[in-house]
Amino acid sequence: MSQHIKNDAIIGVVIKKMTAAYQVRAGEQVLTCTLSPALAAANGRKPMRSACHAAPLLAAVGDQVRIKPLPAGQGMILEVLPRRSSFGRRGALPMPDKHPSEQVIVANVDQLVAVFSIDQPAPRWNLLDRYLVAAEASDLPALVCMTKLDLLPELSPETRAETLQILADYERIGYAVVQTSVVHSSGMDELCAALRERVSVLIGKSGVGKSSLLNGLQPGLGLRTAEVSAYNGKGRHTTTHLEMVSLHFGGAIVDTPGMREFGLWDIHPDELGQCFPEMRPYLGRCKFGLDCSHDEEPGCAVRRAVMDGSIHPRRYRSYLRLRNEP
Ligand code: GDP
Ligand code: ZN
Repeated sequence: MSQHIKNDAIIGVVIKKMTAAYQVRAGEQVLTCTLSPALAAANGRKPMRSACHAAPLLAAVGDQVRIKPLPAGQGMILEVLPRRSSFGRRGALPMPDKHPSEQVIVANVDQLVAVFSIDQPAPRWNLLDRYLVAAEASDLPALVCMTKLDLLPELSPETRAETLQILADYERIGYAVVQTSVVHSSGMDELCAALRERVSVLIGKSGVGKSSLLNGLQPGLGLRTAEVSAYNGKGRHTTTHLEMVSLHFGGAIVDTPGMREFGLWDIHPDELGQCFPEMRPYLGRCKFGLDCSHDEEPGCAVRRAVMDGSIHPRRYRSYLRLRNEP
């Protein structure tokens, strides 16, 4: 992963961000790095108001950085290289006093993986829609990973039919859906293939079977991420303890406990329609054009599409719910 360049500086990847330092992986070694005085000064000019952003925010987990190795496993970050993507709140409507990089949670991400169980607990489809909207707002592809598929026969016929129909609708919209069970050891090859050679941000509530799933992929992996979550549960700020964990088959994952705190949901109402891919063909075609909120206005092309079955009513209700949230 590292390459030697001028001035014995090397390139590494930020795998963990702590309160006052970063862990940077460069080849086989992991160095504990601080920002160079020049970078720290540049960063310091923008005082962070939010308490959870106590650390300098110039570099995020996933960032490629140029570092100068120092003795005793230490290093200094000289430069943050340009990002190819980032996950966080897109600064489409920037606040004048905010530094754009404040909004980046993980840099150089390839996809978001939303994990839900088929039952125990029952899937919260509205929450999945939130996650997918967050992915769309960051221009990231998203994968829906369903767990505990072995519980499917235990669902009532109605719930089972509805669940399968909802999943089929996500696929129709264009989201990949992977169905797994650690009890049946099913879907693991598919999940593995979806994660391979990519950087994936994982999101899912505790109890959905994420640790079991990760352990199924790579022994010990679930434990690794669970430790991160537990640590965060003790009142530590999640943003400072995200960790990127390498997959032995190539690629890496970043678990995201406490997603809600990241403020990903603050998407401007006028942008929300764009975050529902199946609505995009209709945007701008309403009687009130781009001013339509697709709620009760006459001549709404989106609502017409809901009526004729092109947009699932449940997704439409999710849209309205997200739009009307305070
Ligand atoms: P996490 O909190 O998301 O990391 O979830 P865990 O991996 O700790 O799993 C939560 C519970 O779900 C545990 O009781 C697991 O035994 C159970 N579980 C996990 N995966 C499966 C599965 O594929 N099928 C079934 N039936 N139970 C599962
Ligand atoms: Zn409309």
